[in-house]
Amino acid sequence: MEAVDFDPRPALVVAATDDAEEDERIAYLTKAHGVPVNVVDQPALCDVVIPSIVERGDVAIGISTGGAAPVLGRRLRERIESLLPIRMGELVSFARERRGRVAEAITPDGRRGFWERLFSGPVAEAVYDGDMAGAEAGFAASLQTGGLQAGTIHIVGAGPGDPELLTLKALRVLQEADVVLYDNLVSDAVLDLVRRDAERRYVGKKKADHSMAQEDIGALMVSLAAAGKRVVRLKGGDPYIFGRGGEEVDAALSAGFKPDVIPGITAAAGCAAASSIPLTHRGLSQAVTYVTAQGGNGGAPDIDWEALARLQHTIVIYMGVGRARQVAFDLTRAGLPANTPAAIVEKGTLPDQRIIRTRSSELGTAVAEAGVEGPAVLIIGKVAARADGAGLLDLIKEEALAA
Ligand code: SAH
Repeated sequence: MEAVDFDPRPALVVAATDDAEEDERIAYLTKAHGVPVNVVDQPALCDVVIPSIVERGDVAIGISTGGAAPVLGRRLRERIESLLPIRMGELVSFARERRGRVAEAITPDGRRGFWERLFSGPVAEAVYDGDMAGAEAGFAASLQTGGLQAGTIHIVGAGPGDPELLTLKALRVLQEADVVLYDNLVSDAVLDLVRRDAERRYVGKKKADHSMAQEDIGALMVSLAAAGKRVVRLKGGDPYIFGRGGEEVDAALSAGFKPDVIPGITAAAGCAAASSIPLTHRGLSQAVTYVTAQGGNGGAPDIDWEALARLQHTIVIYMGVGRARQVAFDLTRAGLPANTPAAIVEKGTLPDQRIIRTRSSELGTAVAEAGVEGPAVLIIGKVAARADGAGLLDLIKEEALAA
């Protein structure tokens, strides 16, 4: 029998006795035997540091601050965790199982480009969504075309402005996009998160200058995708709330693209949180209605004001700054008590946000006096008395006054 070298020494010693002197003694003994040591909370005595780990299957990322700031290391880990798709490990396995097929079908020169496109295109997307059949179908198709993929369209909600209010999915597609078509409600801080070499195109619509017609935006989106681009149509708030998302989805569908819609935090939700106004609250409001003050052609909206005024609920008015006086008038005439609490939240969730408390009948005056420019929502209902952290005490006082 062949002799086997057996080394009885441990591969690593971790000293963690809660007794600093004892730990130090262990460290010297261990070092004397040539075994690497880690001493908890004593970086100077360590031969090795133990990093925080982020794992997704075979993907492992270690984070170390050299023992100097473990709490910072943990925070970094949380941020990296949130950036990596949950199913990234599955994507790695998916790729591993298909390396052979790629090697057979794609020339060595083309392989790198093939994988790059695969990891940032619809095949990876399907794996992240857990759609393994769709991923395999997309993979098989891309092998046939030598990896040239069709373009994609994502219609993405950018939220009310604060970039931290983006969804993780929105962040990921922004970092994979070739072209981002955005409008004027999308904040600069959100645009900063777009992949550096992606093309950014402003297709915004301000009330006065209709810089690009809706049909043209749809046509542009489709033509870019047809040229193989990963197109992100980035819209303020949520695409399906006063965002014409439905029309853009139709434009994509009619050109043969199945767009992915990624929801965003709508202005009402963002502004409510940022101004401490609960949109519903036991005893104060049982429902919430989002209303636009802007009619289809820029004129008066077709709204059943009586129905709005009757409900015990919260009304959030979008696009209402220019028509605040008329809105106040219509609601009062429809029977809403003139002293119903109201708040105007301007540039909600952005650094220069403003919250103005008022009464439903005085919304027009309040907008004028404060010089509100927007974007802003008008929040009307008893809950608005809680605006800007107004405590329960204030609220009770207000209710007593209103009674
Ligand atoms: N799709 C968007 C709404 C687009 S309509 C969403 O879901 O939020 C544009 C209106 O949204 C503006 O006139 C304003 O009323 C509101 N709005 C958008 N961003 C806002 C913000 N940061 N603060 C206040 N209101 C905002």
